[in-house]
Amino acid sequence: MTGKLPAYFDENSEPISARIATGLHKIGLAMKQQSWQQANGAGLSATQGQILAALVADGPLTGKELSERLGVTLPTISDSVRVLVEKALVTRSADPRHPRASLLTPTTEGAALGARARSWPEFMADAVADLSPEEQRAFFAGIVKMIRMLQEQGLVPITGMCVTCTHFRPNVRPGTSPHHCAFVDAPLSSEQLRIDCPEHELAAEPARRAVWEQFMRRG
Ligand code: SF4
Repeated sequence: MTGKLPAYFDENSEPISARIATGLHKIGLAMKQQSWQQANGAGLSATQGQILAALVADGPLTGKELSERLGVTLPTISDSVRVLVEKALVTRSADPRHPRASLLTPTTEGAALGARARSWPEFMADAVADLSPEEQRAFFAGIVKMIRMLQEQGLVPITGMCVTCTHFRPNVRPGTSPHHCAFVDAPLSSEQLRIDCPEHELAAEPARRAVWEQFMRRG
């Protein structure tokens, strides 16, 4: 059955790249909406929730480290931290590494809220879990490449990803786990790549470029 207009969608469809971008935009709106709703329910702004979640995951951190990690400007971080300190959800202490900086640590109540905020994207994990294993692998490969491209444009913080890490050795062996992490000295497959690794150490720009080219030869 070809219907009355067999070529209609050939002639009237946007390129798949444009429809993927529209789809990602819709997903982004859903995530923003969920974050706002859940943050408001906890009496926080979305940024305050993100700060507490980051301090629970990787803290204590300075304001500058939070700014780099979350991709949020330092003045916005400073405003949110001031409120978190006033609410007794975060404390400041001297940073032994940098005499002029303060280290931010969540209080017991702040850590509990941060742990809750870390689970805010779970509704998205539930939706992704409905994809087949092949669809998840293809989606993950696309996500890694897209984030890498957005990082190079300065639109996403350059932290946490194997493909920008000084310890990452791409495509060093044949088989299903072709990559290597020199930090833990262990092989990893393309679907095991980390995108939020606490041990990540940013490689210098020329090394990042060389690693990406090596990764893309097979990735
Ligand atoms: S330290 Fe983490 S980010 Fe770096 S290569 Fe190992 S797993 Fe990947």
